[in-house]
Amino acid sequence: MLRLPPFRYLAPRSLEEAEHMLAQEGDAAMLVAGGTDLFPNMKRRQFTPQVLIGLRAIKALKSVSGSLAQGFRLGAGVTLTTIAEHPALQQHYSALATAANSVSTPQLRNAGTIGGNLLLDTRCNYYNQTEFWRHFCLGASVRLVSVRGERVIPVQELFRDDGMDPYTKAADEILSEIILPPAAGWQSVYLKLRRRGSFDFPILGVAVALRTAADGTVTGARITLGAVASHPVEATEAAALLLGQRLTLDLASTVAAVAAKRAKPLDNADLTINYRKQVTPIYIRRALDHFIKN
Ligand SMILES: Cc1cc2nc3c(=O)[nH]c(=O)nc-3n(C[C@H](O)[C@H](O)[C@H](O)COP(=O)(O)OP(=O)(O)OC[C@H]3O[C@@H](n4cnc5c(N)ncnc54)[C@H](O)[C@@H]3O)c2cc1C
Repeated sequence: MLRLPPFRYLAPRSLEEAEHMLAQEGDAAMLVAGGTDLFPNMKRRQFTPQVLIGLRAIKALKSVSGSLAQGFRLGAGVTLTTIAEHPALQQHYSALATAANSVSTPQLRNAGTIGGNLLLDTRCNYYNQTEFWRHFCLGASVRLVSVRGERVIPVQELFRDDGMDPYTKAADEILSEIILPPAAGWQSVYLKLRRRGSFDFPILGVAVALRTAADGTVTGARITLGAVASHPVEATEAAALLLGQRLTLDLASTVAAVAAKRAKPLDNADLTINYRKQVTPIYIRRALDHFIKN
């Protein structure tokens, strides 16, 4: 049986306390939320922090607030189950709720948080790609806080194309919340390809968000692909083809073919690169099909 290496556990009760602990402990410390990713990694000695700063007791990290018109704020410590089962998120940010609901198993979703999902270690033996979170298509932002102050950045800017150093978050920063833009007029869909339907990491993730006028004309479009590059990729050129158009099966096929060019799968996941490339346009088209009105 693999055992955890020894560590000291600190349990701050506020974000400020956590910021100061992190600044004081420096490189010796790591943050832990649900621990569903970090603890297995520690058992494998991928990380051996001397200090763990637990975020579970910080109430400010656990709230979901907002409205359709204003957008929503999700504390980084909100669990995936809460997101998957939240009625307003299910209705207005369906891609997000679907993606959260497709992560692993119920037990893991009950413990795993949205902050941990965004920032999990990507150097896993199997493809440790996350869900919708890692390929947001709704223009969300994240708030990062530290003793030096705070900053809000678009979620895409949290990631970089460097497997050894995949996040732009500084070591002393804590992800405090995810800010979702207003969803009025938008609808979204998330599809996930995985080998085992019961629970598995994605081999391909497709998120599509569309805003349409009353007559069905597309007025806003975002298509984002996950698990087929070193980081989430947005198919902006393909999405632009939808603007001002009514979605038809033909248009969906054309857009899917263009969007799929953004897929450059790495040889670090289940199934072959060739298969994953071939299936990408099919999944994009299926996602677009959801928006076609009969
Ligand atoms: C069997 C199994 C199956 C899984 N399947 C999937 C899957 O299908 N899809 C998927 O996306 N993931 C999957 N995961 C990965 C993971 O468990 C989840 O993504 C989960 O959401 C991670 O959240 P956590 O709170 O447990 O993170 P933790 O393990 O606590 O933390 C993960 C990392 O994030 C950092 N961190 C956490 N919170 C913060 C914060 N607020 N600020 C700064 N840094 C922070 C930690 O320091 C750590 O480096 C799976 C894991 C397991 C064990």
